[in-house]
Amino acid sequence: MSSISDNLTQLRGQLPPEVLLVAVSKTKPLEDLQTAYDAGQRDFGENRVQEMAEKHAALPQDIRWHMIGHVQTNKIKDFVSWVHLVHGVDRLKVLEVLQAEAAKAGRTVDALLQVHIAQEETKFGFSSEELIPLLTRSALQAYPNVRIRGLMGMASFTPNQQQVAREFAELRALFLAGKEQLGLDYLDTLSMGMSGDWPVAVANGSTLIRVGSALFGSR
Ligand SMILES: *Cc1c(COP(=O)(O)O)cnc(C)c1O
Repeated sequence: MSSISDNLTQLRGQLPPEVLLVAVSKTKPLEDLQTAYDAGQRDFGENRVQEMAEKHAALPQDIRWHMIGHVQTNKIKDFVSWVHLVHGVDRLKVLEVLQAEAAKAGRTVDALLQVHIAQEETKFGFSSEELIPLLTRSALQAYPNVRIRGLMGMASFTPNQQQVAREFAELRALFLAGKEQLGLDYLDTLSMGMSGDWPVAVANGSTLIRVGSALFGSR
């Protein structure tokens, strides 16, 4: 049963120290999260608001919760006061409601803009054409309670590692262009890489990987 902590140790051993590991615990029971917590893991990712809220209430309060999924805007109020980072800001409506709810809660929420880099139509996110005008100081001024820390993306689900590398490199190029355009030093997070492709993501400049099944087993 300690295979979760073994998996963590092994993964941390392979990961450059500057890359943050978010343990994706969706569908997994509280005991599994507690095991990872006891092995030192503090960043956890969930893709459903209700599940994240239940786990947040039940587990140690120093856990940093990452909302990595597609967000229904009417649920934002359920996590806005305690979420650590919202990865899935994939459309303007999410940004607008996040702004309104964060202001109401009297805090500034860290968030990532999700970019559609995969070939699959099913994945969410801004296109690069939509993203570039948004990554300006004047555009972001409309959202003073949302601090955009960077970008998030998911590569195509394909065994073609060259294609995956190309998609991650494209996301990194957008990130660097945005950093230059904005000149904001807190733009420091590039969330890309999962169990099947994190080494390719790290080789292409990822600063944060979201790993589920390689830690907790298949879902
Ligand atoms: C489920 C999920 C992950 C983790 O996937 P694994 O393949 O289990 O590592 C990462 N990112 C997002 C957005 C997810 O929904």
